[in-house]
Amino acid sequence: MPHYFIWTIGCQMNKAESQQIAGYLDSAGYQAAASFSNADLVVLNTCVVRQSAENKVLGTLGLLKGLKNTHPDLQILVTGCLVDSDSQELQRRFPHVDLLFKPGDYPELIDWGHKQGMPIDQKLPRYPRNDGWMAPSPCALIPIIQGCDNFCSYCIVPYRRGREVSRPVGEIVCEVTELARRGIKEVTLLGQNVDSYGHDLPGHPDLADLLRELSSIDDLARIRFLTNHPKDMSLKLIEAMASLNKVCEHLELPVQSGDNDILKAMRRGYTVERYRELVHTLRSKIPHVSLSTDIIVGFPGETEEQFEHSLSLVQEMRFDVIHVAAYSPRPGTIAWREYQDNVAAEVKKERLHKIEELQTAIASEINSQLQGKEVEVLVEGKKKGKWFGRARSNKLVFFEDAGDWLGQLARIQIEKTSPWSLKGQVKNN
Ligand code: SAM
Ligand code: SF4
Repeated sequence: MPHYFIWTIGCQMNKAESQQIAGYLDSAGYQAAASFSNADLVVLNTCVVRQSAENKVLGTLGLLKGLKNTHPDLQILVTGCLVDSDSQELQRRFPHVDLLFKPGDYPELIDWGHKQGMPIDQKLPRYPRNDGWMAPSPCALIPIIQGCDNFCSYCIVPYRRGREVSRPVGEIVCEVTELARRGIKEVTLLGQNVDSYGHDLPGHPDLADLLRELSSIDDLARIRFLTNHPKDMSLKLIEAMASLNKVCEHLELPVQSGDNDILKAMRRGYTVERYRELVHTLRSKIPHVSLSTDIIVGFPGETEEQFEHSLSLVQEMRFDVIHVAAYSPRPGTIAWREYQDNVAAEVKKERLHKIEELQTAIASEINSQLQGKEVEVLVEGKKKGKWFGRARSNKLVFFEDAGDWLGQLARIQIEKTSPWSLKGQVKNN
């Protein structure tokens, strides 16, 4: 039986798409391999959001060139955000690659597979067997809207993933119903901007409407979604979150900067004041809502004072989690064309560390308040003898117990906290 290996980096959308590709390969009779060296077919699912990710992709492509020299029958497929519309240029650079296909372009993959004599089942997507590269899990990632119409000045994603296309409500409901029937307890709905969901569909259903439909699926316990855009998040959505029990109290709401001039140059479409107001509304309607954000430091022209504005917003907002990144110029983007990357690398690094240091102290304080409290954890697996899973707030929780907890909802009393995770004991009767 032929074997495949899928290498994935980048966002949750890439992870979801790799699961779908695994589903197609499973349907063609392939089996998951443990590494590149045991595979007959390799898929690289790539990310080029920052230069550091692109470097990893290029390094792996180099490694595979060596592997193909010794195993000429190895088939190499490349997808993800490395693949742009000029795939001929990429093909010239990487002649050892057998197929380049744009993110989510499954017809291209299926067509290529059929030409190779692979009996890929086109109707079967999304449900890879849980016995290979994917550990069994009660959680599933569900793309609901592809692409992005926003063109933030620093971001390559709209150029690689194209314009927004929403999946119909009925199709998503059918898929989640089937997954719940197969034992999935939690779904995370994915999009670059989930607040845009549905604007291109007949009748313009929105994310709040979709959440209501999904909430009525009996076997499903929890619903999450990401990423929200502060310029588009509506009161209707916040009220739906507050009223629907299955929707978890956690949001990814990237602010990117605490300075209005930088936000304008980033073309984010909101001000710090609008962001603050939104967080205030969220916290008043959804008590204990946990908030994650993204921040870019060292955007072109960012002065010390403008960086201080980001630092004081972090101090004021008290986020649960921050993903901080140093600005990385991406060829073809508006910022790359119009601005000089003029903040020195050491200054970017210093600013990144300052945000991380402040956030570690804040997360430590926030999490320490959970000491002695009970949280509901959906158990996703076992690591080094300890069960682990996520609380509704998305906090990672570990506990030890002799029972079989995989896929169960456990009530855990928190005994130990750190800025990154919690540890406790089972309280279920
Ligand atoms: N759609 C989401 C949003 O509106 O923020 C996030 C998608 S983006 C691919 C993920 C994160 O990567 C962004 O939030 C941003 O912080 C970071 N990012 C994107 N482009 C970047 C760049 N050129 N340099 C540094 N970080 C970048
Ligand atoms: Fe990139 Fe902005 Fe779209 Fe997010 S909203 S994917 S940061 S362009």
